[in-house]
Amino acid sequence: MERTLCIIKPDAVSKGLAGQILSKIISEGLKVVGLRMLHLSKAEAEGFYAVHRERPFFSDLVTFMTSGPIVVAALEGKDAISRYRRLMGATDPAKADEGTLRKLYAESIQNNAVHGSDGPDTAKIEVAYFFSTVDLVG
Ligand code: ADP
Ligand code: MG
Repeated sequence: MERTLCIIKPDAVSKGLAGQILSKIISEGLKVVGLRMLHLSKAEAEGFYAVHRERPFFSDLVTFMTSGPIVVAALEGKDAISRYRRLMGATDPAKADEGTLRKLYAESIQNNAVHGSDGPDTAKIEVAYFFSTVDLVG
């Protein structure tokens, strides 16, 4: 069993897509073991994306991620990290496979609807960024 962090980003939440996206995740057999809605502060978004702070898109990314509410979900399942990455599709929706969340719902390489942890170490850090152990079920 593995856990991973999903974020439904402000673009998707503002379009009312959170329910549809969670429904697709659950249909793939991933279990939602934690769920919250929140509006990130600048400091919280900068902390979450700290690994990207030297990238040219960092400041725009922080502005985007603080532009409205997000929905964060902790997902659990066998190989949850790679299965959820596959369901999300490529970072750039133009390169994402048919049927993936980003192909279906993303607007651009930045406003790309969803986030997913990229490996076991980041998944642990990212789940803990939003959820205490007592907030997770199962
Ligand atoms: P992923 O979310 O697929 O793991 P990255 O970790 O590389 O992708 O990037 C984190 C987020 O930064 C992306 O999901 C996207 O919102 C934004 N981003 C990545 N690359 C670019 C880019 N070239 N221009 C603008 N925004 C970007
Ligand atoms: Mg990433």
